[in-house]
Amino acid sequence: MWDSLWLGHVATMTAGGGPYGAIRDGALAIKAGRIAWLGAQSALQDQPEKLATDVFHMREHWITPGLVDCHTHLVFAGDRAGEFEMRLNGAAYEDIARAGGGIAATVAATRAASLADLGAASAGRLKRLMAEGVTTVEIKSGYGLELETEKRMLAAARGLAGDVRVRTTFLALHALPQDYKDNRAAYVDLVCEEMLPALADAGLVDAVDAFCEGIGFSAVETEQLFAAAANKGLRIKLHAEQLSDTGGAQLAARYQALSADHLEYVSEQGIAAMAEAGAVAVLLPGAFYFLRETKKPPVEKLRAAGVKLALATDCNPGTSPLLSPLLAMNMGCTLFGLTPEEALAGFTREGARALGLLGDIGTLEVGKAADLAVWRVKHPAELSYWLGASLLRARVFAGRAFNDA
Ligand SMILES: [Zn+2]
Repeated sequence: MWDSLWLGHVATMTAGGGPYGAIRDGALAIKAGRIAWLGAQSALQDQPEKLATDVFHMREHWITPGLVDCHTHLVFAGDRAGEFEMRLNGAAYEDIARAGGGIAATVAATRAASLADLGAASAGRLKRLMAEGVTTVEIKSGYGLELETEKRMLAAARGLAGDVRVRTTFLALHALPQDYKDNRAAYVDLVCEEMLPALADAGLVDAVDAFCEGIGFSAVETEQLFAAAANKGLRIKLHAEQLSDTGGAQLAARYQALSADHLEYVSEQGIAAMAEAGAVAVLLPGAFYFLRETKKPPVEKLRAAGVKLALATDCNPGTSPLLSPLLAMNMGCTLFGLTPEEALAGFTREGARALGLLGDIGTLEVGKAADLAVWRVKHPAELSYWLGASLLRARVFAGRAFNDA
């Protein structure tokens, strides 16, 4: 006897078959938190009510894998709405910086926040993601810029797990703290030789990340970090080629990165290196939109090279205060030219791949975790089509059904 049986149209999102890996009038059975059976309703051996303790009739609605938001900076204190308003009232960047704005504002607020404060502020944001079907979220640190706050951020992120799966990334090189502004090398050494080992030994780190950019950290500094991460046996991700081409994608590929993220300015060599290494391209249209950037990531070239495309909210207070995966999917289509199927794959199969979790989640297949989202739509393309609609009917995490919507 199965624990539960879900009846409806099923978008398995497995690759290689028909669009969306769809099974119309399908059935999905769950046992002990895992997918135990999957197929057409007509292939069930008996009446549904005789096969499972709980039977959920979703009729014409669609069941997809639970969404995977594979790039967020969800844990932080304060917000930057005041700065947003100043800018739109005509303040120059320097005025905002003088008023203590920019990333320094988030660093100061996050350093001052307790573990409980950080957890509470972030839980509210996570709830919004879950209300749009998220069952797995990656959360980066990077607003502490010193060991204790980075540790508190990662612990707060881990503390959000429960009805959702959380992966934590130590965003080791994000910004240079004020007190190291004349001594970059000392800060990079501190991160690589003290902070990274301490956080890894505390068991708080699933992956390591950096902001490789003209206004961030150089490829040489980033490589020093990657070598330290490799020493600790940790996988890497990279903010690469968002505002300029610094060769980050090639560097990430050389270190077998799970993903390189943003990629608006990625070169042909960067694309080839990523394809060769199997690194996922994580596209982040929220930041592109919020910053009113004009250079799009080269989606057609990435596609042609066979690089897998993931999508994420990049939820962060400075450049992407975005709490809607569905809006990110719409932006992926309207701004970057993804198809609705690619957008959904970007938030399921490829998002899972970008976290190294595709063996367990990201598609609906027997044996994988029973993480599902059920949608009030007649076709999966609607998920990328509507703006601001409330489409989630139910969310299932590890076999348990929630009514988050
Ligand atoms: Zn980011």
